[in-house]
Amino acid sequence: MADVIQLLPDHVANQIAAGEVVQRPASVVKELLENAIDAGAKSIKLIVKEAGKTLIQVIDNGVGMSGTDARLSFERHATSKIKTAEDLFDLDTKGFRGEALASIAAIAHVEMQTRLADEELGNLLKIEGSKVVTQDLTTTAQGTSIAVKNLFFNIPARRNFLKSNAVELRHITDEFHRVALAHPAIEFHFYNKGSELFNLPACNKRQRISAIFGGKTNEKLVPVAEETQVVKVTGFICKPQFAKKSRGEQFFFVNNRFIKSPYLHHAVVAAFEGLIRPDHYPGYFLYLEVDPSSIDINIHPTKTEIKFDDEHTLYAILRSTIKHSLGQFNVVPALDFEQDQNLETPYAYKDKAVHMPGVEVDAKFNPFSDQPAKQFGKNTYPKQPTNSWESMYVGLDSKVGMEDHFSSVSFESDTITGSLFEEKTFAVETSATTFQLRRKYIVTPIKSGMVIIDQSRAHQRVLYERFLKNMTIKEAISQQLLFPLQLSFSKGEVALIEEIKDSLTTLGFVFDHIEKESIAISGVPLGVQESEVSMVIDQLIADYQLDETTDGFSQTDILAKTLCKTLAVKTGEILETGSQTALVDDLFACKEPMLSPFNKPIYITLTEGDIDKKFL
Ligand code: ADP
Ligand code: MG
Repeated sequence: MADVIQLLPDHVANQIAAGEVVQRPASVVKELLENAIDAGAKSIKLIVKEAGKTLIQVIDNGVGMSGTDARLSFERHATSKIKTAEDLFDLDTKGFRGEALASIAAIAHVEMQTRLADEELGNLLKIEGSKVVTQDLTTTAQGTSIAVKNLFFNIPARRNFLKSNAVELRHITDEFHRVALAHPAIEFHFYNKGSELFNLPACNKRQRISAIFGGKTNEKLVPVAEETQVVKVTGFICKPQFAKKSRGEQFFFVNNRFIKSPYLHHAVVAAFEGLIRPDHYPGYFLYLEVDPSSIDINIHPTKTEIKFDDEHTLYAILRSTIKHSLGQFNVVPALDFEQDQNLETPYAYKDKAVHMPGVEVDAKFNPFSDQPAKQFGKNTYPKQPTNSWESMYVGLDSKVGMEDHFSSVSFESDTITGSLFEEKTFAVETSATTFQLRRKYIVTPIKSGMVIIDQSRAHQRVLYERFLKNMTIKEAISQQLLFPLQLSFSKGEVALIEEIKDSLTTLGFVFDHIEKESIAISGVPLGVQESEVSMVIDQLIADYQLDETTDGFSQTDILAKTLCKTLAVKTGEILETGSQTALVDDLFACKEPMLSPFNKPIYITLTEGDIDKKFL
C-alpha cells in the first residue's frame, strides 16, 4: 500500500477550528483510540500506567502505516483523512485535523511501531519533543502501536496541574466508555497498572452497555427505535426508576461519534417529565444517524460539540420517540416514587377536618335598611360602636380569637419521629424552650434575644466535624451488620470505591470484599443506618464524578462533605424536642458553628434590640 498522508494546504488548515488538543491524559487516550478506529482496527488495546501520566499505549490491528507516513504523521496538518475544505462536510472518520499526533509529540516521549499488511517489516520511531530521534525497521504485528510516555515532561506547570490518579483515571475511563460504546463491533481491552479493567469482546450495543456498566444494566434498558427522513434513532433509555442523582450514564452518539448536547439532553429529560424526580437524571444511550452534510463537526477542537442543521426537528423527534418507547414498554404507569416530604401537607393541616365551602345568605338583608348587616365568618369581630377607645380591646380577653391568628405558626416540638442523637442529659431549660418552625428552623432563646438555626445546615456542620475528626484520628466506631450488605456497581464505580476505600475505612465502613461489579459491606459508621449505605455510596460516586468537588480539596474533606450532606436531617423533617436541643448543643460545641461545610450561614440571631426596633 502506498503512502497516504498529505500535508493540508494552508487554506484548508486555516479553516479548521484550532485549539488545544491535549489537556490531560484522557485527551491523548481519546485521540489514539479514534486513530485506531479510523485505521479500521477490529481489536484495540489500551494500556495506562499512573493514570496515563507515565504511560498511555494504544495497540491496534488496523491498516498500519508506511515508513514515510509514520514519519509524516507527526507533522502538523498531516492527515490521510481529508484533502479539501469540502471534505469537512462529508466526514466519515473521527479525525480530520491532522493535529493530534503532532500535539502529542510536542509534549511527550512517543514510540510508534507500525506495519502495513503487505509488508514484512514495520517501522519503529522514537520522537522526543516533536523531533524524530530514531527510525528503524522492526518486526512487529500488523497495525500500529503508539506509546506516549511522560506526558508534559517539558511543561512542568501542566504536569503539576494534573489531578490525582483517581480523577485522571476516571477521565480516561470516561473516554474509553464513549469510544467503546460507539463501536460495539470492535473488541477492546483496557489495562491499568497491569490488571485488566475491561475486556470487551465484539458484540451488539445492548451487550456492550451491560459489559461496561455491569450485568444488572441489561434489565434497566428500554429499546428506542425510530427512523425518519432527518434522523435514525436507535439505542436505549433506562427505566425511570433507575434514574440517578449522578450524571454519567447519558450518551449521545451522532454517526458513531460521542457528542455533548445540552439541548438534546433536554429533549430526553422532557420525555421523562413527571416520571423521575427533578434532581435525578435519566440514563440513556442514544445513537443518532444523520446525513454527514447536515452537521458541522468542525466547531470545537475536541469535536464533542457539533452543529446540526435542524436542531428543533431533532428535538421534537427525540422527545416523542422516547415518550413512545416509555409508553410502549409499559414503563409509564410506575409513577409511584416515594413522596417528596417537602410537598406534603404541612403537619398542622394534616389532621384538620375538611370544611365544605359554603355560601351563607342573610335572608333578612335589606340594602335600604339603616341597621348594620349581620357579620359572617368566625374571624370577624362583632362591630362595636366606636365611641370609646376601650372598645378596641373588647373581645381580646377571651384569647379565642387570638389562637386563630397564630395557627399559621405550627409548634411541632411534641411530634416524635425518633431521636437523631445519642442520649444525653440536657440543660433543663433548653428542652422547654426550643421549637421547630416550619420544619426548617429551630428557634431558641438566648440571653440577648433569640437564635434561628437552619436545622439541616446545623446538622451538616455537626456531622462534618465529627467525620473529619474520625478520619484524622482514625478511631471511628463501626457497627457490625448482621449480614454483609451486597451492593452492585459498574466496574468503573467499583474502581472508584477502591480508590477511596482507605478513607471510608477510617470512617467506620468495613469492607467484607470488593469484586469486579459488587461490594459487600459488613460494618458501617456509628449513626449510619443500613438503609442509608447505598445512598451514601451513590452520592460519593456522584460527587467524585464532578470535577469541581475535587479541586483543591483533600479526599478526606470531600468524603466528609458528601457524608454530611447525605446524612444530615433535611428541611421538612420533624425533630422531637430532645433532638432539637441536642442539635443546638452539638452545634455550639463545633469549632465553626457559624458556617455550614458549604459556606452557608447556619443561624441568625435576633437581639432584643432588633425586636424592639420592629415595634417602633
Ligand atoms: P487525524 O486523525 O486528524 O488525521 P492525527 O494526527 O491523529 O490526525 O493522525 C495523523 C495521521 O496519521 C492520520 O491521518 C493517519 O493517516 C495516521 N495515523 C494515525 N494513527 C494511526 C493508526 N493508529 N493507524 C494508522 N494510521 C494512523
Ligand atoms: Mg486523529
